[in-house]
Amino acid sequence: MAATPESLWEVRRIPNKGYGVVATAPIEPGTRLLMEEPLYIRSMTDDSIQQQNSIVESLIQSLPDAAQRDAFHALASSFSVLYPELPYYSIATTNEVALSGAQNGASGLFLRWSRFNHACTPSAYWAWNSDGTSPKGRAGVLTVHAIRRLNPGDEISISYFENRVMPHEDRERYLAEIYCFACDCALCSLAPGPWRDDVDERLRQLEAFWRKYHLGEEIQDRPSSPLLSPQLSSCFYFHFVRRHSYHHYYFEAQRYRHDPAGCLAECREAAELILEAEEDVGDGAGGEDGDIAGCIDVTFAYEIALALALFVGDAARASVFAARNRDRYTVTLGADSGEALRAGRGALDPCADRSFGLGLGGGRRRGMGLGSEGVVVPDVEEIGEEAFEEWLWSAEEWELGG
Ligand SMILES: [Zn+2]
Repeated sequence: MAATPESLWEVRRIPNKGYGVVATAPIEPGTRLLMEEPLYIRSMTDDSIQQQNSIVESLIQSLPDAAQRDAFHALASSFSVLYPELPYYSIATTNEVALSGAQNGASGLFLRWSRFNHACTPSAYWAWNSDGTSPKGRAGVLTVHAIRRLNPGDEISISYFENRVMPHEDRERYLAEIYCFACDCALCSLAPGPWRDDVDERLRQLEAFWRKYHLGEEIQDRPSSPLLSPQLSSCFYFHFVRRHSYHHYYFEAQRYRHDPAGCLAECREAAELILEAEEDVGDGAGGEDGDIAGCIDVTFAYEIALALALFVGDAARASVFAARNRDRYTVTLGADSGEALRAGRGALDPCADRSFGLGLGGGRRRGMGLGSEGVVVPDVEEIGEEAFEEWLWSAEEWELGG
């Protein structure tokens, strides 16, 4: 019988943490560790917490398998002190996951996934894959993939923040308020001093980037009338919202319209900061910047760079950013994830994207660097990696084309 993802780890008691997931075999980045279908899915409504308690109770009572009911009751319950009379609500709120895609607006509960502990610099990524199929043939699975090399005995951690990044005091407050625990991961264990200040400085820079492009902050001066046509809005929605559609998004259209080169420069800075950290972890040398690896994924910066390249009709750069996303999503989400598949299509044919060339005005579409012979990307072997990066992140042609 072929090894299942779950044969690579086991649930063990972890000192001070209750249970946790520990590797039982050497694990390479990109290895799928879990593919789990939900125990239940429920829609998020504005029911009172008492009503929610009853809803979850009836969902659990209706499970045919007594072992599953017991497993639910054995899960962590962060709010049992606050709401001792609402045990179902307390366990559900501690362990449920907001789902995107077809189940947008709903949450699910996953028994196996719930055993992974949090670390601000996780060693694995999790995602709801609404296109995936469970071993039992049901649509929609929660996946976990290793993002770094793990040895037998290593605890496998995930982050509850997704791509959110915060300096230490904000993380501390957030985890205490939302999850009722104090994190003791490597990042949170850094002693106060210049090193932690340096780490926080990098996290603040990434947080500012995240806030701007994920939440659309810095748009207080934005006029109340929508700046984007419905068509443009839907394209930006497609690029920015698809992964986290349960959040409310805005998009700062003016910056795109008037300063795509400035936005691209910000993407480059963020991507380089993230990649430096990952390279330091990847080479196993305990590099200096590896401490923030995994906090935020580089695809976050590449998605925005891709949207910019598409917006200005730059097929060559769009294809490179899409290819990088495809490769990274294959590691973090799996080759069968909607994200990896979409990025793969975008790498092959960026001009087919609905938003391609929309920034060129008048509905006119033009492919910069795109002749009848196809996308022209410089040969990295020929010009070298450094020159290739300079080409990739250069927006000179965008300005000329403006
Ligand atoms: Zn932490």
